[in-house]
Amino acid sequence: MAARILNGTKIAEEIRSEVAAEVKSLIAAGVRPGLAVVLVGHDPASEIYVRGKVKACGEVGVYSESLTPPETVTTAEMLALVENLNRRDDIHGILVQLPLPPQVDAKKVLLAVDPAKDVDGFHPMNVGLLSTQRPGLVPCTPNGVIEILKRSAIAIAGRDAVVVGRSDIVGKPAAMLLINANATVTVCHSKTHDLAGVCRRADILVAAIGRAGMITRDFVKPGATVIDVGMNQVTDAAEFQRFFAGHAKREETFRKRGSTLIGDVHPEVAEVAGAITPVPGGVGPLTIAMLMFNTVKAAKMISSQRTAVSSQ
Ligand code: NAP
Repeated sequence: MAARILNGTKIAEEIRSEVAAEVKSLIAAGVRPGLAVVLVGHDPASEIYVRGKVKACGEVGVYSESLTPPETVTTAEMLALVENLNRRDDIHGILVQLPLPPQVDAKKVLLAVDPAKDVDGFHPMNVGLLSTQRPGLVPCTPNGVIEILKRSAIAIAGRDAVVVGRSDIVGKPAAMLLINANATVTVCHSKTHDLAGVCRRADILVAAIGRAGMITRDFVKPGATVIDVGMNQVTDAAEFQRFFAGHAKREETFRKRGSTLIGDVHPEVAEVAGAITPVPGGVGPLTIAMLMFNTVKAAKMISSQRTAVSSQ
C-alpha cells in the first residue's frame, strides 16, 4: 500500500497562521517582533534563502531588516555589526546567513550572537539548553521535523527512531529532540556498519545526509514513518531516469528547468513506508515557518525578561 504523504506545506501554513496571530497580540501589547538577517556578499543560493525569509516575515507581521556587508568584510567588522544588533531593542532575532567568506571567523561571529536572539539555535548555550530540556531556541529544521510528526499524530514516545546524519544543524538536534520526546534513538553516520540493517529497525527514520535518493526500500521497515530532510538537485538525465522514470510531472519539470529536487530518500520508499514526507513540500517549508516561530518566541522571552527586570 502506498505511504501516507505528510504534507509539510500545509503544516507550515498552519504554523505561520498561528505565529501571525501571536504577532498581532504582541503588537497590541506594544512589542513588534523583529528579525535581522545578515547576508555577506552575493551567493545566489543564500540570496534566495534570505529573500524567502524576509518575505515570510512580511506575511506574518514580523519586522525584518536585511544587512548586507560586502564580500571583503572582516571578522572585527562582523563582530561590531552583531554587537550592535545584540543591543537593539527592536531586534529580537539575529540570523547570520552561512557560508561566510573565508577571511571571516564564522565560529567567532556565531558565538557573538546573543543566545536570547539566536533564532537559528546554533549557539552552544542553546545547544546546552536543548540537551538539558530547558526553554531556549531550537534549530529550525529539526524542530520542523518534530512538528510534522506531532501534527500528523505520529506517536514518538517509546518508538525506535534512527537519524542518519550527525551534523550540528540537523542530525544532532533532531536526535536530541527525539530523545526529549521519549523515542529510543540511534544516530548513524558515514562510519556506521550495516547502515541498512540499523535503519530497518526504525519506526521513525530521519534522513539528513545530503545524498540523492540514498535511502532505498531495503533501508525501511514496512509501515515505518520516513522523514526526508535532504535537498539535492538532480541535473544529470541518467540520474533523473534512475529516480523518476515514468513520473510525468517530474519529467515535465526536468525538461523545463533542466533540474529537479530530490531528497535523501529514493521515491520507491513510498511503496513500503507507512508515512513519508515528500521533497519538495515536506520538511523544507517547515524551516522558514519555525524561523518565524523562533523570532516570536525570542520576542516573548526577551520582553518578559525586560518586564521582570523593570518590576524589580
Ligand atoms: P552535512 O553537514 O553534510 O551532514 C551530513 C551527515 O550525513 C554527516 O553526519 C555524514 O556523516 C552523514 N553521511 C554522509 N554520507 C553518508 C553515508 N554514505 N552514510 C551514512 N551517513 C552519511 O549535512 P546537513 O547540513 O546535516 O544536511 C543534510 C541534508 O539536509 C542536505 O541534503 C541538506 O541540503 C538538507 N537540509 C535541508 C534543510 C531543509 O530546510 N529542508 C535544512 C538543512 C539541511 P559524517 O558525520 O560521518 O561525515
